[in-house]
Parts: sequence; structure tokens; C-alpha cells
Amino acid sequence: MKGFVGEIFTSVQGEGLVVGQRMHFIRLLGCNLRCAYCDTPAAQKMAGLLHYKGRTFANPVEADFVAETVQERRVAITGGEPLVQVDFVQKLGERLSDQQKTLFLETNGSLPDALLRVRDFFDMICLDFKIPSATRQKQMWHEHARSLDVASTKAVFVKVVIDTNYRPAEVRKACSIIARVDKNIPLVIQPVFGRKIDNLLELQRTAQSILDDVRVIPQIHKYLNVR
Ligand code: SF4
Repeated sequence: MKGFVGEIFTSVQGEGLVVGQRMHFIRLLGCNLRCAYCDTPAAQKMAGLLHYKGRTFANPVEADFVAETVQERRVAITGGEPLVQVDFVQKLGERLSDQQKTLFLETNGSLPDALLRVRDFFDMICLDFKIPSATRQKQMWHEHARSLDVASTKAVFVKVVIDTNYRPAEVRKACSIIARVDKNIPLVIQPVFGRKIDNLLELQRTAQSILDDVRVIPQIHKYLNVR
């Protein structure tokens, strides 16, 4: 089974609930969205070379080859949007589960049916809820709600990226979707890197009136100047 992979590298997890953990990252190529703040634009298209340890490899590459690169205990499958290559994610999930790795999935939460197929390979799922003020894409509350239903049988948290023009109503909507499933599911509010967001603590308080665990966490890998 072959798939399109943009890069494989080891770093610290720079976002979300398990920030700071050392992980082996597998960045898959291809994405069904075009968020305005996207910081991995090269991964949006399912094209280009795989970069690994200073070398390049032609795509697509075998899942077995990718699985054999893993030496860390924790593995993050990210993108792009990994679930646009759900068959390949499934094959990686099989291989890495055989290796007893702790698997972490980062997904944009727009493909619930694909998520259902591979959910059980993952120990933790980070689900992005995309708010239109930041993405300048159409809203996807229905897809996000279904994705959260699917993911809720696992350890899961929701991440919302906000820009300076965020609307509190969007964050409240995200909170209400989460609360309908379980108000203990953590919400991570992540400002677009480098932006000064007004009334951030007020926004956290509003979210915390609906949910039990609301954290404000920036992308720390960018402050550390690592990938
Ligand atoms: S979902 Fe992620 S990879 Fe895709 S465009 Fe948005 S930020 Fe970029």
C-alpha cells in the first residue's frame, strides 16, 4: 500500500493537549480545505517529494517504508489532512499498532466517515473545529459534530484556531457542540501564530462557562524555532 508523504521528522509536539512531548511526525500530503492561516501550504496538494533525514524520495511511498522509519515511542500522523488518504492511514495504523506505538492523529474534523474507519488505531485524536472568521472557508459544524461523535470513544480534544477577527459566537458554537457530547472534553484555543488577540481571557471565561477544561495554548514549536 502506497501513499503520499511530505516529510518525516522527530520534534516536540508544538500544539494542543500533549504539547512538549517528543514525537515522530509523519506528515501526509493532500488536504480538502484551504484555510487562510495554513502554515503547511506545501502539504495541501498530493504532490511533491518526501523529505526524510536530509534526503528526498519520490512519492508515493510504501507504508512499510514509512513505518520502518519510526524509532520514537510516540507517533503523530498529521497533514495536510491525513484522512484524504484513509486507506494509507489504515495501513500505517496496522503497521504501527503491531510495533506497539502510541498513535496520535491530527485531523481537521471534516471527514467523519473516514475517521470512523481508522479511529480505533489511535490513542489520542486532535480534532480541529474550523471557524470561518479564521479559515475564510464555509462553516462545517455538522461535519465537526459527527467527527466528535466518532472520536469520543477515544481520548480526544478539540482545537480551535482563532485570528484577530474571531467572533465569540463561533467559539460558543464550538463549545455547545462539545458539551452535547461531553463537557469534560478539553477545548484548546490556539491563536494564529504571532497575532495579538484581544479579550483572550474573556473568551476563555465564556468558553469555560460551557465546558470544564478550556486551555489557551500557542504553537510552542514556533517559539522554540523547531519544526
Ligand atoms: S486543514 Fe490544515 S493543512 Fe488543510 S488547509 Fe487547513 S490548516 Fe492547512
